[in-house]
Amino acid sequence: MVKALRLPASLDGFLGACSSRSLVIPDLQRRISSATNNSSDSKAKNWVFLGPPGVGKGTYSTRIAKHYGLTHIVAGDLVRGEIKSGSSLGIEMKGIVEKGDLLPDNIILDLVQQKIQKAHQAGSGFLLDGFPRTAGQAESLDAMGVDITLALNLSMREDALIAKCLGRRTCSKCNKGWNIADINLPAIHGTEPAIILPPLNPPAECLDRMQIREDDTEPVVRRRLDIYREEAGPLEGYFRRKRVLDNFPITGGIPETMPILVEYLDHWLATNEKEQPKAAQAHV
Ligand SMILES: [Zn+2]
Repeated sequence: MVKALRLPASLDGFLGACSSRSLVIPDLQRRISSATNNSSDSKAKNWVFLGPPGVGKGTYSTRIAKHYGLTHIVAGDLVRGEIKSGSSLGIEMKGIVEKGDLLPDNIILDLVQQKIQKAHQAGSGFLLDGFPRTAGQAESLDAMGVDITLALNLSMREDALIAKCLGRRTCSKCNKGWNIADINLPAIHGTEPAIILPPLNPPAECLDRMQIREDDTEPVVRRRLDIYREEAGPLEGYFRRKRVLDNFPITGGIPETMPILVEYLDHWLATNEKEQPKAAQAHV
């Protein structure tokens, strides 16, 4: 049986005392609702999704890429694919990875650029997922002539992120992933939006085979978030200066969030070319 999620002490108060089921509507959603959709689809969909580990970036990127017919570019997949192909570059990369070293930026940049070129040739936009991770990588992409038109930061309250990471389970038989965290946090006035994330519980046949990743412990999750923030600060700063950064706070599960995200992106497409995205103020 799956036991109730054991929460880190710092979250007990939030989760135990929570009774509010109401959602705070982010400011950006209000902005979207008041928008008119009368202009053509003229902006290049050269998008990047940013976001901390655990926010669901992979899930949302996959669905959004499919929804808009974009080439979904996942840096990790490109690396794995190249290694698997057995090309000379792949063999070189395999050697580096097996030594436990990090791949040099220029190798990943080349792979990403090739993929972007293919997308352009096919007349498709693209959605970058997990790249660039640093301001330096973003600058290099720019130097290669890749013009990012929207860098959307998928954000989530830290207490919810941690609970979500600690709730991850994998079935040892079918290998499918589940999440037993049942998150329902009231808004903290002026700082954080309310968030409701129901658990994604496993089916009966997987119940007895739930495994926790060894590194899904609170200290490791916190450390991962710290490392992410160290890199993300300058990266967000870079995109902010380029006037392409916007923030999208996630305050619900996938079924609640997807329509809001699509509405947001439709609005982005419908606004004037030079309109600067305003940073969402939902939890500032
Ligand atoms: Zn299973």
